[in-house]
Amino acid sequence: MLATNHALSGGLIGALLPLPIAIPVAFASHFVLDALPHYGIPHKKRNHSSMYRWIVFSDTFIALSIALIAALLHKWRMEAMGWWAWSPDGLWVLYYFTHGRNLHITPKNRFMSFHLKIQRYERPWGIWFDLLAAAIMLPFFIDQLLK
Ligand SMILES: [Zn+2]
Repeated sequence: MLATNHALSGGLIGALLPLPIAIPVAFASHFVLDALPHYGIPHKKRNHSSMYRWIVFSDTFIALSIALIAALLHKWRMEAMGWWAWSPDGLWVLYYFTHGRNLHITPKNRFMSFHLKIQRYERPWGIWFDLLAAAIMLPFFIDQLLK
């Protein structure tokens, strides 16, 4: 799922659940969301798709903006759980920068293989599910941010 939705779900978990319960729930939420339909294109096409890059980099910008707003409002549990919920995708970012900005990921370990395998419903039309998930979570997230 897009980073924005991992940030929103993690932030909501951080706002609604006490610590330490929020920690494993936020981490597990990543894999639940990744198993649902969401945006993506075949890995072989990623390096050559300007649309894919545009969507992923726009998503990154939005997710980082959410993180900045949460930090400015001192919502530290929402901030931490948002990052924590997103954190499994940090491996993709690391891969991207350590493999010559390559978006065609080849799993390097069992965790990466598992993480890729659960994303069975990653499709271009999955963007509609990402947008729906964001539209559902955003009002609750804003409500928690302003409390
Ligand atoms: Zn993921």
